Amino acid sequence: MNDTHDRTAWLKGGESHCVHPPRTVSRPWKLALLGPPGVGKGTQAQLLAQRLGACHLSTGDVFRAAKSCDETELTPALATAMDRMRSGELVDDDLVLQMIYERRQCLNCRGGFLLDGFPRTVVQAETLERFLNWENLALDAVVNYDLELDEIVERLAGRRSCSGCKAVTHVSELSPPALDRCKVCGEKLVQREDDRPEAIRVRMKVYQESAAPLADFYRQRRVLVSIVAKGSAAEICDRTVAALEGVTAGRPG
Ligand code: AMP
Repeated sequence: MNDTHDRTAWLKGGESHCVHPPRTVSRPWKLALLGPPGVGKGTQAQLLAQRLGACHLSTGDVFRAAKSCDETELTPALATAMDRMRSGELVDDDLVLQMIYERRQCLNCRGGFLLDGFPRTVVQAETLERFLNWENLALDAVVNYDLELDEIVERLAGRRSCSGCKAVTHVSELSPPALDRCKVCGEKLVQREDDRPEAIRVRMKVYQESAAPLADFYRQRRVLVSIVAKGSAAEICDRTVAALEGVTAGRPG
């Protein structure tokens, strides 16, 4: 299945609608992906979107899309959010939750959804539960990706994305003389501002403070599925799909 649906409703919010929404699938999965920055949640979300037909809903992508707006178009709250993002800190719960509320139609997406980067705090998780309850929905599973700290820092510091086609690569996959050029389209590769070493340190600290309470929240609801994020992206995706096969009627097997 190709991931041909767009994400206009998610990225723009409000009254926006997708031109190519996901097709109706027999099992519209409602998933959230947890795990430290750099563990590969975004890559897994893209692969899982193709395998399961669900829409990839990343809060980080919404903020990055807002970043490319003209500065004068940003509300003061959004401008503060951009500053926090640059330094690696979390954006305030109120703003994130308002953003999700404005995009609540996406929770009813007919292909299902994969939340990536949300929720990040227990307050966000509680509010998401309330939003889903209003719609008579519940998460089928919360996938928690796990990886050792050293490996995470190495992955993040070497991550580059293409300024043209947005493909993500790692410096270890590049060879001279094209060390700063995208292998797909040849445009310049850039480093995300929050992948700089000082921002990585802040992001890891922030993650470690919020991770355990969030995992406990979902463990208590018996929806937490833990996956070791070692190996290739395809192997991790296979592992995830196999684990999800054991999940029935909103309960991990
Ligand atoms: P990500 O792409 O998920 O790593 O998100 C990039 C940055 O966006 C994070 O470091 C935060 O500054 C901000 N962000 C994304 N999602 C959230 C969230 N759910 N709560 C707070 N801040 C967020």
